[in-house]
Amino acid sequence: MSPLSRRSFLGLSIASLPAWAAEKPALRYLQPADAGYEDARRPFNSCILLKPALIACCRTEADVVAAVRHAKDAGLPVAVKSGGHAFHGFSLNEGGLVVELSGMNNRLLEQGSYRFSAGPGLKLRDCYSWLLARGRLLPAGSCGGVGLAGLTLGGGYGLFSREFGLTCDHLTQVRMVNGNGEIRDSRDEPELLWACRGGGNGNFGIATSFTFETQAAPPNLATRKFTAKGLDASGLARLLERWFEIAATLPDPCFSAVILNGSQATVLLTSTESADGPAFAAATKSFSQAGLSSKGSLTKPLASSIGRYEGRPGPLPFDNVSAGFYRSFADLQSAAAGICATVRETPGLIFQVNTLGGAITRAAASAYPHRGFPFLGELQAYWEKGKIPAKLAAGHASVRQALAAAGIRRHYRNYPDPRLENWQDAYFSGTYARLQALKAKLDPGDRIRHPQSVRLPAV
Ligand SMILES: Cc1cc2nc3c(=O)[nH]c(=O)nc-3n(C[C@H](O)[C@H](O)[C@H](O)COP(=O)(O)OP(=O)(O)OC[C@H]3O[C@@H](n4cnc5c(N)ncnc54)[C@H](O)[C@@H]3O)c2cc1C
Repeated sequence: MSPLSRRSFLGLSIASLPAWAAEKPALRYLQPADAGYEDARRPFNSCILLKPALIACCRTEADVVAAVRHAKDAGLPVAVKSGGHAFHGFSLNEGGLVVELSGMNNRLLEQGSYRFSAGPGLKLRDCYSWLLARGRLLPAGSCGGVGLAGLTLGGGYGLFSREFGLTCDHLTQVRMVNGNGEIRDSRDEPELLWACRGGGNGNFGIATSFTFETQAAPPNLATRKFTAKGLDASGLARLLERWFEIAATLPDPCFSAVILNGSQATVLLTSTESADGPAFAAATKSFSQAGLSSKGSLTKPLASSIGRYEGRPGPLPFDNVSAGFYRSFADLQSAAAGICATVRETPGLIFQVNTLGGAITRAAASAYPHRGFPFLGELQAYWEKGKIPAKLAAGHASVRQALAAAGIRRHYRNYPDPRLENWQDAYFSGTYARLQALKAKLDPGDRIRHPQSVRLPAV
């Protein structure tokens, strides 16, 4: 059936749908000329110009089944879009079918167990506010527009992951429509749960619902921002090294990030414990002694604190990638001076390192293979509009080369880099072959794919 005849067929058949399905508008297929296509296509990264032939705007799991079966009949590849925050367009494709899930944003908190079920279209902003209003927390990232689906399927870290673990560590059940258009449930297929804890982004199926353990929400978040301005490259490098030393001593309720931007270094420190407590005070003293100044700490109720880290509204042009996982500053030692010099001389280039570790290291093994690495770097490039300026592109390339030359091999799947050669090993390390076996089982026709989706095993 052609997309258009299917669309009219679905439009005509609404009256005969069961009551539960008729409550929501039926599956809509959008083609490039249709009203609503641009909204449904729009990614957070405005440089992504990919144009799918069809966007299936799904409201129910049955819609997703129908969309995948339609793609199979029509011989179209399928990409999956939930929150649309993929750095490099892996939730879109050119000329294929995109399953668009923003309309599946239902949520439910089970009384007593505090298990939380959510649809793949739920955004972090709504996830936090809905759960916090009920006294619960699902530890996740901080940017409000990021989709819970994409975040969870690749790991999901943020201000609370040292204390409680990654978002994917809280996942207890997942339902998925596989590449053949069949529904799979991790209660029948435990391997699916293992894979969706860090290895499930657009690889072998479309996750249609997630169930998570939640945590009792800490009442407050203490935060403190430190800055040092006008640093030369060696000053930046010294500060980076010192940040690693101090951050390694933080207790689990604390999170920290160091952000190098031009000649400025900014350090963020947060804690779910009091800013007057010994750990926060000790870290504050150490950062001050390292030459960073601060206007003081702020303690606020969690809901309002999280809103402060929502990030800029998009779409924006950017080129962000993982800058690698590190065990300590020693991993970066040989590259640090060059990276700092490049960042200092390249407007728009940002090098950031975040703390991991803590509860992440203690969680059950899963497809996320980097638990032994307590630090994660990110390389960001932002510009105003149009194509990336040549100087910024050159600086970005130079930092990536410096990281590779320093032997930084492991990278975060949720910060993908389309230029990585050995991305299979970088993202999944020892878990890739197991993911490939699941791919063969769930999506033997490689229907669901993007440039760095798990490949079928070689025959
Ligand atoms: C501004 C910004 C801030 C961020 N902050 C953080 C952070 O604090 N912590 C962190 O860990 N990460 C962070 N990220 C990275 C983020 O986790 C990833 O970009 C994530 O994949 C986005 O998920 P999404 O659903 O919004 O994206 P989408 O673009 O919809 O999808 C991203 C990927 O997930 C796959 N996917 C999406 N939905 C499904 C589904 N239902 N079933 C199967 N596969 C699916 C897609 O194939 C694609 O590969 C941030 C990204 C941005 C742009």
